[in-house]
Amino acid sequence: MSARESIIPVFVPHLGCPNDCVFCNQRRISGSLTPARPGDVTEAIERALAITPAGTRRQLAFYGGSFTAIPDAEQEALLGAAQPWLERGDIASIRLSTRPDAIDGAVLVRLRRYGVETVELGAQSMSDSVLALSGRGHTAQDVREASLAVKAAGFKLILQMMTGLPGSDDGTDIESAREIAALSPDGVRVYPTVIVKDTALCDLWRAGRYTEHTVEDAVRVCARIVPIFEAAGIPIIRLGLNPTEDLSGGDAVGGAYHPALGELVRSRIMRGKAEALLEGAEPGAELTLRVNPRLMSQLVGQHGANRKYLTEKFGLKRLKIVPDGAVEGVVMCEKA
Ligand code: SF4
Repeated sequence: MSARESIIPVFVPHLGCPNDCVFCNQRRISGSLTPARPGDVTEAIERALAITPAGTRRQLAFYGGSFTAIPDAEQEALLGAAQPWLERGDIASIRLSTRPDAIDGAVLVRLRRYGVETVELGAQSMSDSVLALSGRGHTAQDVREASLAVKAAGFKLILQMMTGLPGSDDGTDIESAREIAALSPDGVRVYPTVIVKDTALCDLWRAGRYTEHTVEDAVRVCARIVPIFEAAGIPIIRLGLNPTEDLSGGDAVGGAYHPALGELVRSRIMRGKAEALLEGAEPGAELTLRVNPRLMSQLVGQHGANRKYLTEKFGLKRLKIVPDGAVEGVVMCEKA
């Protein structure tokens, strides 16, 4: 996002959610949640107007899961509250996230009427067994149909997927990424599963009935998923849960929670490229990898992890990694 764009988030707790996604804690903590009100929308917009310079492209974003599954009157009240600012051009557009099975023709007509531009769908997986084991309550076909309907109605489509859900493995997650890419969304968010306290997933994990999707698992599989979306020209607008005080402060009890997960994944992808270049290197050799300066830290890895891994894997005496502005993207290998 450019410096002249800003998101105005309004969280819509889904108090009446009929589903029971195993990774979600909204139902269990719903007693402490209050529904979003039209006043929250106007307050959020007024606050944003006060702190963002004129000329900023502001987008109002209803986050929290399933906007179009809340009662119609509530949806209309929240969307209606934003209309004066939309009409004046103080906010440029509205985006929201929802479930694939909470989309139909009437819903899309309503969203269009209220100036919604972008619809995010929580696909999570394209494996029906993974969706069932995760308690999602919808199928992969629901994702396909909703995606086509959203695009046909002229909205921008963002699809969210998760890795490491119950019943998944690298193969199902990579296949899900391929199927999601084939739906041609305007962007994707990839969320490796985090075990949050007070969730059914946490209970399953503690009972030994779910194997944790570790940070390493997430890095390994996402390093294969990211190139699928990149090759299809689909922007990855988020990789990994946004770090929050609650998650960092103890709510994330296990799973793939890391504040810099995206950077770890990019670094792993660079490591793979370097491995391909070093293939066949003679043990004991002294080699140099040249890399575009913007990719230097990714290639070296956190605390030099990639350099250490590559040196040990190929039995090198020394591996130098030097920035070189003449190298575009890829690394080049030569004798030191
Ligand atoms: S993640 Fe699942 S359980 Fe949680 S609010 Fe969304 S649909 Fe409901």
